[in-house]
Amino acid sequence: MLEQSVQFVKGIGPTKAALLASQAGIETVEDLLYHSPRRYLDRSTFKRIADCRTGETVTVGGRIADAAIMGRGRKFLSVTIEDESGSLAGVFFGGIPYFKKIFRPGEYVLFSGKIDFFRTMQIVHPEFDFLDDESSIANINTGRVVPLYRSSEKLRGAGLDSRGFRRIIRNALDACIGEIADPLDAGLLERLGLISLPEAIRFLHFPDTAQDADRARRRLSFNELFLLQYYLALSRRLLREERGASARAIDTAAFDAFARGLPFALTDAQAAAIDEIRRDMERSVPMNRLLQGDVGSGKTVVSLAAALFALGRGEQTAVMAPTEVLAAQHDRTFRALLPPGVRTALLTGSLPRAEKRAIASAAAAHELDIVIGTHAVIQNGVSFARLGLIVIDEQHRFGVNQRAALRDKGALPDLLVMTATPIPRSLALTLYGDLEVSSLREKPAERVPVTTLAFPEERVADIYRSVEKYVSQGRQVFIVLPLIAESEKMDLASAEDTYARLRDTVFPARRVGLLHGRLPAAEKDAVMRDFAAGAVDILVTTTVVEVGVDVPNATVMVIMHPERFGLAQLHQLRGRVGRGAHQSFCILVHPADIPDESRRRIDAIVGTDDGFAIAEEDLRQRGAGEVIGLRQHGHDAGLEFTDLARDMELILSARAEAEARAAEVADAETLAARVREPAQIGGIARGIRSKRVISLLS
Ligand code: ADP
Ligand code: MG
Repeated sequence: MLEQSVQFVKGIGPTKAALLASQAGIETVEDLLYHSPRRYLDRSTFKRIADCRTGETVTVGGRIADAAIMGRGRKFLSVTIEDESGSLAGVFFGGIPYFKKIFRPGEYVLFSGKIDFFRTMQIVHPEFDFLDDESSIANINTGRVVPLYRSSEKLRGAGLDSRGFRRIIRNALDACIGEIADPLDAGLLERLGLISLPEAIRFLHFPDTAQDADRARRRLSFNELFLLQYYLALSRRLLREERGASARAIDTAAFDAFARGLPFALTDAQAAAIDEIRRDMERSVPMNRLLQGDVGSGKTVVSLAAALFALGRGEQTAVMAPTEVLAAQHDRTFRALLPPGVRTALLTGSLPRAEKRAIASAAAAHELDIVIGTHAVIQNGVSFARLGLIVIDEQHRFGVNQRAALRDKGALPDLLVMTATPIPRSLALTLYGDLEVSSLREKPAERVPVTTLAFPEERVADIYRSVEKYVSQGRQVFIVLPLIAESEKMDLASAEDTYARLRDTVFPARRVGLLHGRLPAAEKDAVMRDFAAGAVDILVTTTVVEVGVDVPNATVMVIMHPERFGLAQLHQLRGRVGRGAHQSFCILVHPADIPDESRRRIDAIVGTDDGFAIAEEDLRQRGAGEVIGLRQHGHDAGLEFTDLARDMELILSARAEAEARAAEVADAETLAARVREPAQIGGIARGIRSKRVISLLS
């Protein structure tokens, strides 16, 4: 029955089946059983409204009594909910028309967030979930853990809200739980402390306790990790067997010329990384290396050396940066340091079409040695005559599938991924399976550590005065404004307002520039060039400046609303200063009253400048949610059930198990077929199924 259409489950007819397929990708009964709850409602985090206290972070639920637009100057929407004990308001400042539409009186809704008190008990910008009716709340109050499912307007219209899903899944389970076979043997499960697959599926939907839900998650996580690792293990074997042991020779003339011409001595860490890369690139098996080094540790120079090794094998290099600003900067750095005769081009989306085409055909004719550009442009626009190396800068969410797509561009080119955000080992293993790591733990010698300070907004005038002082000493300053999504019109207006005010009123005697993602690329590039050349004193900017920008004379960064940035992002931003010999400062200017989590992030960033420590703290803080959220944690790796912060051991055992199974594949033909056709591995590891992993690999 598992393979049959969901239509045959009690309570689902042809109409609902069609909706399930189109709205949720659920076609078979098995699909339905694997349709995992988005989150669970758990009594331990749930409160009656009357029991809430100011300052607590809680989840409350109730019926919407009223949704009213209020406020004189700044309007806001106040959504009042009631339970049997009292009432509370959810307050929304942005998106009022949208929220006004969705919060309809009479509906049941769940609010999560921090309680504060302003005329009434309220939560500002709560996270919210719609409930089908009061019975979910009644269920929690009887001590059960209640699963909530992702649904849609159309599904809800057909009765498939969370309650509807619980009902049909119950029916499906009753009909075929006996058919679910566990592909793993009992001994292994016991050794790993995992529950059986049928049990996991049952607890996924109907856990008695939060622990049950977590046991289900762990078991399903093992399944997806095992599949992923199995595929990676097969690929590694195939590669070893195909390539044999012949070495590739590198002519180092170009590299030697570059090393002689460098205006500084390489740090020991840089020299060591370059050495490791060179040894990788001489081997027959393609390099798969991650170069991690904190902001300012000098990764670009290392990638340049790698490009020259590729050149020394008669091959081309593609350098991919996440933004145009950064691609342009790499282009400048490369041009400044490359020995004469090396042919490079900068390829960005904003070039006139004819120029883009000219560069692409030059790459195809091997008239270019190095092409630098943004990921999108190179991935979509260029084919190379002999692509030997791909350098990917500042992009650690670069998954297995993108990698495969890229590799189609060359006969398995070498890969060098660079990142300032150290990848926790769990993520590296999950994403890449077999990535070698070089670390630049040391920064160029003359660097002075950045001093980081946090101030409430009321001190902003003092802060501008010290900005003025540093500018008068010849230094340059970044003022960073949050523009979370570059498309948010309101934010953009506020960035432009702030810019105008700073330029006209606060720093009338200074040259103030503005940089944000909505500017045409040519303008962005011009502003960055002016700033790099010292022709702009104060650069008002959004996070487009986050990654990689290198202006050693900029020694002060003021970050407004740091509470709106993530930890890794704050660290990245801060890395834009402290790149020269002068003492640098990073100043965080936050509203007086901010949520606890934001406060913790700010404390963490003030407390340490160590990127490795920050990455760990980031994973820890993000991993600790008050609600058990299934999908939040493994997302970075594209996984559904895995929590990278907690599942390190699971990852390692899945990997070991997968290695053993991959070694059992006897003939080369089967091996090659499985690697080429990832969808097949699902069938091989019978009963272990993960649509997510299969699509990740395909
Ligand atoms: P990141 O690792 O953040 O990408 P960059 O490659 O942009 O760092 O390098 C930061 C700055 O340090 C650049 O101005 C670069 O020229 C300089 N730099 C790199 N290596 C050295 C070195 N060994 N000695 C002195 N300066 C260096
Ligand atoms: Mg960089």
